[in-house]
Amino acid sequence: MWDFSTEPEFQAKLDWVDQFCREKVEPLEYVFPYAVRSPDPVVKAYVRELQQEVKNQGLWAIFLDHELGGPGYGQLKLGLLNEVIGRYPSAPQMFGAAAPDTGNMEMLAAYGTPEQKKRWLEPLLNQDMFSAYSMTEPQGGSDPNLFKTHAVRDGDDWVINGEKWFTSAGRVADILFVMCTNGMFVVPRKTPGVEIQPEPRNHNHIIYRDVRVPRDHLLGPEDGAKVLAQRRLGGGRIHHAMRTIAQCKLAFDMMCERALSRESHGKIIGEHQMVQEKIAESYASIRMLRLFVLETAWKIDSTSTQEARTDIAAVKFTMARVLQEVSFNALHILGSLGTTDLTPIQAMYAGAPTMGIADGVDEVHKATVARRVLQGYRPHEGYWPTEYYPAKREDAWKKMQPILDRRPDLAQSAENYKKYFGRRTR
Ligand SMILES: Cc1cc2nc3c(=O)[nH]c(=O)nc-3n(C[C@H](O)[C@H](O)[C@H](O)COP(=O)(O)OP(=O)(O)OC[C@H]3O[C@@H](n4cnc5c(N)ncnc54)[C@H](O)[C@@H]3O)c2cc1C
Repeated sequence: MWDFSTEPEFQAKLDWVDQFCREKVEPLEYVFPYAVRSPDPVVKAYVRELQQEVKNQGLWAIFLDHELGGPGYGQLKLGLLNEVIGRYPSAPQMFGAAAPDTGNMEMLAAYGTPEQKKRWLEPLLNQDMFSAYSMTEPQGGSDPNLFKTHAVRDGDDWVINGEKWFTSAGRVADILFVMCTNGMFVVPRKTPGVEIQPEPRNHNHIIYRDVRVPRDHLLGPEDGAKVLAQRRLGGGRIHHAMRTIAQCKLAFDMMCERALSRESHGKIIGEHQMVQEKIAESYASIRMLRLFVLETAWKIDSTSTQEARTDIAAVKFTMARVLQEVSFNALHILGSLGTTDLTPIQAMYAGAPTMGIADGVDEVHKATVARRVLQGYRPHEGYWPTEYYPAKREDAWKKMQPILDRRPDLAQSAENYKKYFGRRTR
């Protein structure tokens, strides 16, 4: 069955989210930037009030499946929700669904022991704690075989040595999920030997020097880091794509509003064909991206993240391209204003290549898609491709011969056709 509609009960939730974000989340962003992490107890208490409203709606941490402790809406509904909240930078945190905590919580929920869940998952879910993810290393990001950070058993402890690069929000995290060559470890940031370098400021360069953690800080099986990382990144990529639709839609709304608001050379700019082309192409690109993302989310729901891997990878590089195209078009239509930091457009356009690098570079995802797609094909036999006309024609005659043998009238017509088309193609 093909049905592109949202069921009325969930649409009512989406409408509530839309209104909540417009009326409460967006104003908070301007008055108290980064409120969720504010050290001010008064601001923090107000944030908690708003988060309670989200919880009352049953929309807290909806990225987690039912069996992992979340409401279990599934990826498709999560996609629809992200399409709304992705427009507001702080909304994912207000809904308990912000990276990098989401991916780390997913790993904990799936692989943590009951004690580990109690110690880390519960406080992360309640935002009493924040986390970061240390995977990339200075000498290599795209190829995990180049990673060197390693843990060694010493009595009841693990001792970690290595160097990580671009750990987002590592400096302000309470715990760090550190991918080692022999397992995924949870390291409290204040552990001696965790040395956060002064630069970069937001995505941190961290040296782990003889960092000692107790034995039960290994998450999942020994040597299981790559499996845990896949689990983490698969979900993360599609969630980024869902929020990217919201960003594209924001750019599109801005471009359309502006196209109707400015005049040049005797016309509203929206009446100039080149502006119309930008609007039409952006519209179609966003629609295509949205369908692709939602279909992929549906596939994950009806199979698994692993089964939907080809489409997740394809969505990943497509979203960066569409964001680049749409934000570029919007920037142009806004003219000089679009080049300033007085609207979201400039940062959105500048951020498009970043989307093509975070969570794995586009090139690697493209290679994955091509490799996996090609597994469904075989080389043709002999010199000619399957669709080579002369061979197909010969084959068709062979296939139809038994019918022609039984039907002389049809055989005569076939000969006439052959003569007629033979003359035409000569
Ligand atoms: C905003 C942002 C947030 C991030 N947050 C985190 C985080 O929290 N934790 C973390 O661990 N990491 C994080 N990263 C790092 C991210 O995972 C890496 O940037 C990514 O894996 C690429 O690694 P790299 O930067 O070392 O690039 P490289 O691996 O050096 O690649 C550079 C370029 O080389 C080319 N290239 C590489 N491999 C191939 C290939 N196989 N085929 C064709 N071309 C190729 C591509 O052009 C690629 O863009 C973040 C990155 C960004 C941008």
